[in-house]
Amino acid sequence: MNCSVQGCPGHYEVKLIIHTVTRGGEVLVFEKVPAEVCNMCSDTVLAPQTVRHLEELIRQKAKPEKYAPLYKYA
Ligand SMILES: [Zn+2]
Repeated sequence: MNCSVQGCPGHYEVKLIIHTVTRGGEVLVFEKVPAEVCNMCSDTVLAPQTVRHLEELIRQKAKPEKYAPLYKYA
């Protein structure tokens, strides 16, 4: 599929990405999320069913697999 960003000649490739969601002041990190990523501009698109699955995990308050250190830049 061709990139939907205007003027970008790239195309999307399926990749497993790290996706973060901010919810109620908390940062939730999801690993190995399937996404379409443009090979030129890195525009990232999640499929509607992927978004639904993430929402479901958040809604169920799924137990985290592990914890990630969170750093403030400044
Ligand atoms: Zn692109």
